[in-house]
Amino acid sequence: MNVLLVYAHPEPRSLNGSLKDFSVKRLEGAGHVVQVSDLYAMNWKASLDANDSLDTQPGARFDPSLDSKRAYSDGRQSQDIALEQDKLKWADAVILQFPLWWFSMPAILKGWVERVYAYGFAYGVGEHSDARWGDRYGEGSMAGKRAMLMVTTGGWESHYSPRGINGPIDDVLFPIQHGVLYYPGFDVLPPFVVHRTSRIDAARFAEICDALGQRLDDLWNTKPIAFRPQNGGAYDIPALTLRSDVAPGRVGFSAHVE
Ligand code: FAD
Repeated sequence: MNVLLVYAHPEPRSLNGSLKDFSVKRLEGAGHVVQVSDLYAMNWKASLDANDSLDTQPGARFDPSLDSKRAYSDGRQSQDIALEQDKLKWADAVILQFPLWWFSMPAILKGWVERVYAYGFAYGVGEHSDARWGDRYGEGSMAGKRAMLMVTTGGWESHYSPRGINGPIDDVLFPIQHGVLYYPGFDVLPPFVVHRTSRIDAARFAEICDALGQRLDDLWNTKPIAFRPQNGGAYDIPALTLRSDVAPGRVGFSAHVE
């Protein structure tokens, strides 16, 4: 299988750097082909702007969505964007690896998503009409591929527990897992999260590697998170709210998981 690891940490000797090296070795050892997009090492341009299209005219009004659509369909995107899209097409599984920074991914990785997820590639896919709101949330260009987050947090596991002060980790990661991964069609596996990173010694590092290795070995057998597909009948269209008889009384992120 082909695995794309999109990695966002500025320091190769970090915990994240060690876990990235471990993961590549483990996956390759199991016979998979791995590509790593090491965003800091690539000096990845994080900001989406007019320079992302090769056809930008000086002084022309920049429209982030429509210029993206045009550049994608005309094959006139900046080369770095097209290369990352090729890697996504090539991959059977994609891992996004990052330290949790301000309750989300580092800006460089957010910028990878914003620029690589072009209009027509990751969104704006499929029929848009009164009866259908495109191929997304379970359908789309990434359908049939798997994705997983590998995240490290300074906070403790209890801080991210159902009643923890930071909010449940599933809620914190929902915008990425549901919004960034499920939206274009990935089957999203439960995340691999390492908490309390300030307390890691050789013994704990070995335990983490054991657990991570198991998750990587199980990449193709792990049951994805049961997000509800947009076009599977659970939502009223075009309002796209859950039908009143689906999970009655449940609101918020968890209502979108069967
Ligand atoms: P490192 O600092 O590199 O390492 C952590 C520990 O692991 C160190 O003790 C190190 O010695 C040890 N280690 C590293 N490699 C090995 C190895 N090979 N073998 C054994 N031990 C090893 N946390 C939150 O919970 N929520 C937030 O919202 C949040 N926001 C943040 C925002 C910013 C801007 C920053 C800088 C930090 C934030 N943090 C937050 C904390 C952050 O999530 C952690 O600092 C990060 O996850 C640690 O990962 P790292 O790879 O940088 O670890």
